[in-house]
Amino acid sequence: MNYEIKGRKAIVCAASRGLGKGCAVALAQEGVDVVINGRDADVLAATAEEIRNATGVKVTAVAGDITTESGREQVLAACPDPDILVTNAGGPPPGDFRNWDRQQWIEALDANMLTPIALMRAVIDGMIERKFGRIINITSSGVKEPINVLGLSNGARTGLTGFVAGLSRDVVQHNVTINNLLPGAFDTDRRAAIIEAGARASGKTPEEVRQDHIRQTPAGRFGTIHEFGAVCAFLCSTQSGFLTGQNVMLDGGAYRGTMG
Ligand code: NAP
Repeated sequence: MNYEIKGRKAIVCAASRGLGKGCAVALAQEGVDVVINGRDADVLAATAEEIRNATGVKVTAVAGDITTESGREQVLAACPDPDILVTNAGGPPPGDFRNWDRQQWIEALDANMLTPIALMRAVIDGMIERKFGRIINITSSGVKEPINVLGLSNGARTGLTGFVAGLSRDVVQHNVTINNLLPGAFDTDRRAAIIEAGARASGKTPEEVRQDHIRQTPAGRFGTIHEFGAVCAFLCSTQSGFLTGQNVMLDGGAYRGTMG
């Protein structure tokens, strides 16, 4: 299928590694010019080069912290009128809510709720005017099935989900769609960090915890960033204009509900 987005412009936040990178690669493979972002400038430059060489599209690397106003300004300056916006940032740390103070909650809300909202606010009116917009928020399966030790993530991302549920219905008449992609277990650095934290908390080895996570996934394995990117690219396609306000679980069958 030709997604008919060749030549369009995308901002993909937090895309030097992991799921964001998977989305940037998949969009670039569809001929979309991408602005990618991450804090470590060297890792980001290497990813930009890799995508450029593999696809031939224009890849612009903007190093900076997307959870800060200046980080967002730099990304938006590189692409003020994107057709596609993929929001993403690092996930908050795991822990016990008794140990989290106000500052830690504010940081989680900033990263996983207020940053995506600020980015949508900056680009949505241009998308409405141009009658094309695709917004994807990378959230978490924890929004549907909370993960106990990730209370900061459960709380902040559910706030974003509630906001998007309303906004997506306001803008779809202009061919601007907003959907959330909910990763289950994907083989990334973040997953490795969660496994390490699980091992420390349980006294198991990291490999035992890794196998526990795999056992909880009916697919019998972790997902790949390419599988994640492929779904993102479809949601950004011209053909997906009737699909909005959805929370798309990508979890190898881990969520046990009868309906998605
Ligand atoms: P990852 O492998 O750790 O990659 C995170 C990417 O985001 C890196 O490119 C990182 O680069 C960048 N990044 C992190 N914080 C940033 C910031 N403040 N500003 C700009 N760039 C930033 O993580 P991932 O597994 O892809 O996860 C992506 C998101 O999905 C996270 O929010 C995570 O919690 C969520 N998630 C992941 C899984 C999973 O199984 N992997 C499951 C559920 C939810 P720098 O470090 O250089 O900035």
